[in-house]
Order: sequence, then C-alpha cells, then structure tokens
Amino acid sequence: MSNPSHDEVLAHDEVLAHDEVLALDARHVWHPFTQAGVAPPPLVATGGKGVTITDADGRDYMDVCSSWWVNLHGHANPVIAQAVADQAARLEQVIFADFTHEPAARLAAGVVRHLPGDLDRVFFSDDGSTAVEVALKMARQFWTNQGQDRRVYVGFHGGYHGDTAGSMSVGRSCGIFNAWENMMFPVEVVPYPVTWDDDPEVEAKEQRALLALDEVLEKNAGKVAAVIIEPLIQGASGMRMCRPQFLRAIEARVREAKTLLILDEVMTGFGRTGNMFACAKSGIHPDFVCLSKGLTGGFLPMGLTVTREYIYEAFVAPDIAKAFLHGHSYTANPLGCAAGLASLALLEAPECQQRLKDIEALHRSRLPGVARRPGVSKARICGTIAAFDLKGDGYGGESSRRLKETFMAKGLLMRPMGDVLYLLPPYCITDMELHRAWDIIDSVVSKL
Ligand SMILES: *Cc1c(COP(=O)(O)O)cnc(C)c1O
Repeated sequence: MSNPSHDEVLAHDEVLAHDEVLALDARHVWHPFTQAGVAPPPLVATGGKGVTITDADGRDYMDVCSSWWVNLHGHANPVIAQAVADQAARLEQVIFADFTHEPAARLAAGVVRHLPGDLDRVFFSDDGSTAVEVALKMARQFWTNQGQDRRVYVGFHGGYHGDTAGSMSVGRSCGIFNAWENMMFPVEVVPYPVTWDDDPEVEAKEQRALLALDEVLEKNAGKVAAVIIEPLIQGASGMRMCRPQFLRAIEARVREAKTLLILDEVMTGFGRTGNMFACAKSGIHPDFVCLSKGLTGGFLPMGLTVTREYIYEAFVAPDIAKAFLHGHSYTANPLGCAAGLASLALLEAPECQQRLKDIEALHRSRLPGVARRPGVSKARICGTIAAFDLKGDGYGGESSRRLKETFMAKGLLMRPMGDVLYLLPPYCITDMELHRAWDIIDSVVSKL
C-alpha cells in the first residue's frame, strides 16, 4: 500500500463545527489549572496573528498575557513559522545522545552570548519545570561527584518553579501544592522582600530577608546544595518584584557560603525585564540559569539549563557514575531549536530592542492614571511587565473570575492572578494596541 497523500489525510477528518469541538473537548480533554466544576466552556481558538487570537465565532482577543508568557513576536509569526517548516522538511528529530545538529549547536552558542561570564554550557530539556529540575539535580550531583553530601535547598517565599516534584519542592511556599505534600522534599524557605513603586519599607524588608538567609546558611553550613530564586520578579505568585541590589546581596552571601546560585529565568528571560536576561540587568553571575517560555517565541515547548564551565567539568571523568544520567526523549528537538534561533534573531534586531524600551515607557505613562483609582495599590513595572493589586478575594476567587470575564467580553485576554492584574504583552504589540489595552483596563477598574 502506498502512503496516503496530504489531501487524503486531510479529507479523512472533515472540519469540525465549533460545537462539535466543544463536545469532544467536554468529553475527553482535561484542562490545566482549571476547576471544571465552575469554569465556563473554553473558547475554541481558530487562528492567531500578531497580538490577536481569533475564536470560532470570529471574535478577536488581544493577547496581552502572551498566552501564559511564552509569545514574544506575535502569534503565527511568519519568520518563525517558515523556520520551523524548513527544519521539519529537513530533519524533524534525532536522538541527542551520540548525535548533535546545527540548530542545537547554534542555539546554545546564540543564547550563551547574552549571558554573563562563563555561563557557557547548555543542557536541553522540555519546558520550564524540567529546566529547573535539571539545575536542582546537577547542583546535587556536582557536590556528590566531589565527595560532598549536600542536600539542602534554599528557596524564597512565594517562589514558583514549575510542577514536577523537585521544582514543586523548591516552590512549595507558593501555596498551590498542598495535594502533594508527601511528594516534596524539605526546603529552607526565606522571606522575599516584595516591593513596588514608592515603597518606603523596601530596605527594612530586604534586611529581614537577608538576616533570615544568613541564619539558614549558617545553620546548614557545608550542607547547602543551592539557593534558587526568580530574579527581579516572582511571576506566578503575582508579578511580585524585588530590587537588583537584593539579588546582588544574595549572590555575595552565596559566594561566602561557597554554595551555588540557581536563577529561574523561565519567565524573566528573553527580554521580559527590558534586558535580554534579568541576571545581566541585575549585574549578577549565577551558577545556573533556567530558561524556557520565550525561548522558542511561543512556538514549541523547550527548556534550557545553562551552567558554568567548572560545573560541567565536575561531571567529566572516565566513570559513567559521574555523568549526568538524565535526558528526555525529545532533547534538543530540531524544530524547537529552529524556532528558538529564529526567535532569537528577531529579538536581537534593533527594532525589537527599541520596542522593549517603548513598551516600558508606555506602561510608565499609563500605569499612574490607573494607580490613582480607588482600590488600586502596589503599582509596579519591570521592563515589559506592568502590574498592580486590587481589592479582591484571592487566587481562584469569584472576583478574579468575574474580572477575567469582563475583560474577555471587551476583547482583552487578561488572566488576573488572584487580586493582581498585569500586562505582559508580546513585543510586536503596537503603541495603539497597548493604549487600547490600558484604556480598557482603566475603564473596567474605574467601575469596580
Ligand atoms: C512557568 C514557570 C515555570 C514552569 O515552566 P513550565 O514550562 O510551565 O513547566 C518555572 N519557573 C518559572 C519562573 C515560571 O514562570
């Protein structure tokens, strides 16, 4: 039998009507971070272009949350789409033990060029959670390979690092993992000095956090495998920001304690904070950087764990037991690498770098107006991200669900995180589009 043609394959399944898609979905699909008992039926997305998602009823939504923070250059970006199509026609996948390929080698070199110092070694995995899981495991084995039993991890209150067992453990204080208490290993959790514009308490909060960190490092001297933090912004716990000087103070203490620093830049990476990476913006030099989300411009799932050459060297020996025996079936998938390379080239272009500055400037011109509305507090901006708090009933509560529906009805795809509203738009958004988003936000907030 010969292979079916492209047309025959397509004809096999006729196009489904909108309600048929919903019926199949309702019968067979389980959605993430969703309480199906109260959630309305999902929207059926049929297309995307630039900042816009279109649904099956022909309604447009402005995606100002970059579809869970992954999209950088707009939906169905033609440059990235072409790069993926070209790569798919050449080589779609190859086992990444015993093989390498040009897109992987070039992507690794392209990313490390933007990272400080000797952050030169790249390990590929599948998403943000695995990028963190890999860093946690590498840190532990780095010490083991040198005959040191270091098993204590230090995290910060409210930090979120992903949904696998290890990444849950270091993010255990973010409060959503109670169902898996027994699956998580113990972690030392230090207070996080969350701050915002004109916060008079910021220094006192930083001092308290650093004192707590000092105590933890002293109590566990010689036992700490690594300290992990989301640099500048804790994303999932509500766009909670800290100052660069706090990160520099942490780095100094990590060096003094002779342990390792993991930066989870899964959300902050690839321009989000206005710089290519938050570590460069903050002037710190970590031992591991975890990347994902924006890595492929939002096209394909992929994660990177970047580490320093001396860490890598601790795994190089004649003995297999010293190797990092970890890997994923799709490690360094060529399609993901091709998307990553195309996205990186778009991001490096001067026009895009200028957009990062323009988006921040526009946020700075609009946020104060909203911040003056009753019930609005803690206005804050870091690069392309703007956020503020409202009075509400918290994560998963009725008020944030109603607010989300109000924005959707006005064509704005916003997902309030509890009482926090934020904008985290794709960099292709125009000034006019971003003004329209702010206009809608201001009108909704003014009527609360
Ligand atoms: C989203 C996120 C993760 C998890 O990434 P996934 O791709 O969802 O597994 C980890 N860390 C941070 C900071 C994130 O924002």
